[in-house]
Amino acid sequence: MSSMNFSPDDEDAQYRDRFREVADSYDWLAMRAVRQESEDLHVERYSLEFHRRLAKEGLVGLTWPTPHGAGARVDQQLLMAEELECQGFPGYGLTTNQRGGGMLLRSGSPEQIAEHLPHVVDGSWTYCQGLSEPGAGSDLLSLRTRAVRDGDHYIVNGAKLWTSSAHISQWCSLLVRTDPEGKRHKGLSLLLVDLKSPGIEIQPVWVLGGWRVNAVFYDNVKVPAANLVGEENGGWNVITGNLDEERAMSFGGTETRLIAARLIHRLQGMADQLSEADLETLGRFVMELEADRLLYLRVGLAAGRHEDTSGIGPMSKVNGSELAQRFIQWAADLIGEEALFASDDANEDVLAADIEQQLRVATVLTVIGGTSEVQRNIVSTRHLGLPRSN
Ligand SMILES: Cc1cc2nc3c(=O)[nH]c(=O)nc-3n(C[C@H](O)[C@H](O)[C@H](O)COP(=O)(O)OP(=O)(O)OC[C@H]3O[C@@H](n4cnc5c(N)ncnc54)[C@H](O)[C@@H]3O)c2cc1C
Repeated sequence: MSSMNFSPDDEDAQYRDRFREVADSYDWLAMRAVRQESEDLHVERYSLEFHRRLAKEGLVGLTWPTPHGAGARVDQQLLMAEELECQGFPGYGLTTNQRGGGMLLRSGSPEQIAEHLPHVVDGSWTYCQGLSEPGAGSDLLSLRTRAVRDGDHYIVNGAKLWTSSAHISQWCSLLVRTDPEGKRHKGLSLLLVDLKSPGIEIQPVWVLGGWRVNAVFYDNVKVPAANLVGEENGGWNVITGNLDEERAMSFGGTETRLIAARLIHRLQGMADQLSEADLETLGRFVMELEADRLLYLRVGLAAGRHEDTSGIGPMSKVNGSELAQRFIQWAADLIGEEALFASDDANEDVLAADIEQQLRVATVLTVIGGTSEVQRNIVSTRHLGLPRSN
């Protein structure tokens, strides 16, 4: 029987250590500037400046083959991402842009790879994902945004909803219907759309946590046919790789571990204010957070071995996001009204402010990337192999 080793070896640890070196160069003021930029952009855990810094250090696209990346394994990349989130740095830019580049490496043409990858790796181009529509979220296959071929172009008409970071991105991976007769997934295609193209209107939609997502309207938008990724009407195969990658990310677990560690630090020496029930609950949460981390690492290790993660990624997604909600609710109750009125002004309690913000942010984590109900269905069908009910 092969042994199981969850400890990183020297080669794995060097990715974590390389990130630690970057982190050490940020003092408290620089860190506040990163947080401020994220707040100003209204995108959760995203700083363009910090993302460009990671790019400059060669830490974007680590898992891609040379010349674009360093050929690292997915779990080695996760180790770095975990370190980054655990130290309070924003990791969303890394995941959303790497998903755009990863899609091209899997399904793009050599020309598309040559055009885009250098800009992903140097942090100059950013990407968003336009899948969901009003009326097509869980049931993505009912989407109606249309693309009609017209010579060297597609003409795109329709509306997308919930497009995270569209307002700060150059490119959108847009899932469109190219064959209205084709049954459900058979008539879909994936287009890379330059968001500066005439006919695109991006409107803000505000969600809890001060987070801006977007409604994006496409009115006779001309997209070069060369921007079709993969085959025409083969878009479903292109996008499912992205969705698997998305669900292998941490959805709340890592940030929650950071807040839990800070809270535990605060509680040292406050024995008189903690009841037996508080201690028991905290102990239970710590065990659950540890189990969540192992599940997250399991998905990363499987992805690193190029195994199918479509069944276990959703387990980690549901577990991390639901645990994040339960923990943060409990932490807010424990810390009391301070958590509701805190801000992170210099003289205020930053931990309380973070708990208050995470209380709002965690609410959407069980929806973004696919709802818990739908993810549980995927665990039953993809992981357990049970038949779908019709
Ligand atoms: C903050 C945020 C960011 C997002 N970012 C993006 C993005 O960048 N790009 C993008 O394309 N989309 C994005 N989304 C959209 C997200 O993927 C959808 O909201 C999600 O898939 C649910 O779709 P819906 O909102 O249409 O809800 P619906 O699909 O209408 O679901 C409504 C309810 O019905 C339940 N339900 C639906 N079908 C089933 C079923 N078969 N079995 C059991 N229950 C079911 C759901 O669980 C849910 O409770 C984002 C959403 C949020 C909240």
